[in-house]
Amino acid sequence: MTLEPGTTLVVASHNQGKVREIADLLAPFALVIKSAAELGLAEPEETGDSFAANAELKARAAAGASGLVALADDSGLAVDALGGAPGIYSARWAGADRDFATAMARVERELAQRAVTAPRAKFVCALALAEPKGPCAIFEGEVSGQLRFPPKGDKGFGYDPIFIAEHMTQSFGEIDPALKHRISHRAKAFAKLVAALKMP
Ligand code: IMP
Repeated sequence: MTLEPGTTLVVASHNQGKVREIADLLAPFALVIKSAAELGLAEPEETGDSFAANAELKARAAAGASGLVALADDSGLAVDALGGAPGIYSARWAGADRDFATAMARVERELAQRAVTAPRAKFVCALALAEPKGPCAIFEGEVSGQLRFPPKGDKGFGYDPIFIAEHMTQSFGEIDPALKHRISHRAKAFAKLVAALKMP
């Protein structure tokens, strides 16, 4: 697939933080970015059992409903000592109000119950790019690191304030977003997408 400058692309997400990051990552390609919320598209139920399956389901739903090329991101935090939880349930741990203070407190509580002192974790991102009546391509990226409590920093979103990437001392909530965009799970998935697409 080729995405020429000026092509309208729907970002199949209602998560403002994610839409902002994706728009930043796509800025060099001069696409016209619309979010699913802006187009009034419904959010499909995430019934897949993997990040890739959920990304594909969201991209296909947005492409089908809008008639435009759609990009979906399904991502989350996988904590080693919790068997990969919250994983695909990362958003659901924050409840209907998307309260990530509660979600991070749950991670801390569950680690304390298991007496884990140096919790390892990774962020995982699956991107799905779907054409309205065509194929859907998947690109995945991960970033490993450790968790630290209490949460620190207000620059990112979701679980960023507790996640410290490998070789770093500050959380994703504390570092400059431009640095996060260079090293994150989403950046790595994006690099694969850009390499696979003929993007000028
Ligand atoms: P979903 O992909 O919309 O199901 O939700 C993914 C959830 O994972 C988000 O709501 C965040 O809680 C979390 N998440 C995904 N990527 C990031 C990130 O870059 N930083 C912090 N949290 C993230």
